[in-house]
Amino acid sequence: MHPSRTPLVIANWKMNKTPSEAALFCDDFLSRLPALPERVELAIAPAFPALERVGRHLLPTRVKLAAQDVHVEPKGAHTGEVSVAMLADVGVAMVLVGHSERRRDRKEIEADFTRKMKRLADAGLSPVYCVGETLEERDGGRTEEVLAAQMTALDAFGDALPPGFVLAYEPVWAIGTGRAATPEMAADAHAFLRARLSERFGAAAAAATRILYGGSVTPANAADLFAKPDIDGGLVGGASLVPADFAALAVAAGA
Ligand code: PEP
Repeated sequence: MHPSRTPLVIANWKMNKTPSEAALFCDDFLSRLPALPERVELAIAPAFPALERVGRHLLPTRVKLAAQDVHVEPKGAHTGEVSVAMLADVGVAMVLVGHSERRRDRKEIEADFTRKMKRLADAGLSPVYCVGETLEERDGGRTEEVLAAQMTALDAFGDALPPGFVLAYEPVWAIGTGRAATPEMAADAHAFLRARLSERFGAAAAAATRILYGGSVTPANAADLFAKPDIDGGLVGGASLVPADFAALAVAAGA
């Protein structure tokens, strides 16, 4: 964690928690909020049906509402999809783009992510762009090549990153497996990504951009990961489902 960047921890609940379960989480977690470090920014990304209910809980607090995805088109005949305007209307401030589960399950590719990030930028919502290699790619020595290819989703942005842009390094082999990257592995990937941002958008933009680590972050390993200067917080699945654990991650990010 570098002192010039505000730490950020985002809860990605994936397809977990009904609106009622989400409300119970909020009651518990928000009661812990006054004890958590104020300099750490926090966000929760519930499933779409729980967005409005969670948003109502978060509105009077400093915790931001996030969404797990958005459709590339602004409106129309896209059954089952959700637009940027719908997310903005319920108070969403940040949106995940390019999560590896979307790449895997929906076969989404960089061109889709570019379009989504453009929609978000036009509406003033922050994209949280997720990149990361598979185990096969890492074992084949292709991690940097894969990350560089995923970063081409930003090529359409000229020389300025989308406002509020956040990058998340999430090695696919670490997501939901209980096998987090070592702090050194993560730090190497983050340094590579920051260097790519610098080449593309300049040193100042790269230095100002938060790069989160995601992949089996827990209260037990968070402090060591977040201690690395290029790791600015976490994008957290499993451990974010438990209020005490999510609170512990906020404490680790503020240390
Ligand atoms: C994620 O899905 O973004 C994630 C990092 O999940 P987990 O923390 O469960 O590995």
